[in-house]
Amino acid sequence: MASVEIRNIRKNFGTVPVIHGVSIDIQDGEFVILVGPSGCGKSTLLRMIAGLESVSGGELRIGPKVVNDVPPKERDIAMVFQNYALYPHMTVADNMAFSLKLKKAPKAEIKSRVDRAAEILGLGKLLDRYPRQLSGGQRQRVAMGRAIVRDPQVFLFDEPLSNLDAKLRVAMRTEIKALHQRLKTTTIYVTHDQIEAMTMADKIVVMHDGVVEQVGAPLELYDRPANLFVAGFIGSPA
Ligand code: ADP
Ligand code: MG
Repeated sequence: MASVEIRNIRKNFGTVPVIHGVSIDIQDGEFVILVGPSGCGKSTLLRMIAGLESVSGGELRIGPKVVNDVPPKERDIAMVFQNYALYPHMTVADNMAFSLKLKKAPKAEIKSRVDRAAEILGLGKLLDRYPRQLSGGQRQRVAMGRAIVRDPQVFLFDEPLSNLDAKLRVAMRTEIKALHQRLKTTTIYVTHDQIEAMTMADKIVVMHDGVVEQVGAPLELYDRPANLFVAGFIGSPA
């Protein structure tokens, strides 16, 4: 577990600025949701935290360490994407073990980490199945399992539920929250869905056109929106 400190972060693609100086403090163990309309810069910010995009300005800390120039593999972060392509030719167990095998972790340790993730996610009976034999929700759980086995300091989620149908989406919200209750890993979760943000977050960060409009607990934003954008965005249906 670690805190994440985002200090006046900027991002340009070529000459085009898309993130204009964003600052967010995330505490150890907090579940923070970045919410905002499509194109406002949520994925770009998450990808900078993961090290998948370079930072054009500002400072990024994970725990006490400035990570601006630290390669992704050394950041101790695990990311779950919307398009969480599982390896189709590998079993559930092998999908979850893959990153540990790359790191040449000892076999016994790989097994115990995979078994623990499977137990946490209720995948124990599915370890020998292939992705095509799983439901959408089960596949999403395997994608989370791949992140859990790495026991990272920080989880990053980028719209992990947006490809699921409405009913499953609601069920998975509860599962992800239960997972956080259990592991208490610092989590940064991106969505464009206000309802998801309001029901899941300890703290919501509302973004709009590359800036942060407001940071606060769900009820705080609801009761005291800082401006018309936040009021309109939080108040309108998804
Ligand atoms: P969100 O995740 O909130 O929908 P993104 O972070 O994907 O938004 O995109 C923010 C802005 O940056 C958008 O205008 C998008 O077109 C632009 N953008 C994202 N990635 C790139 C890229 N690799 N090259 C150029 N522009 C990009
Ligand atoms: Mg995005």
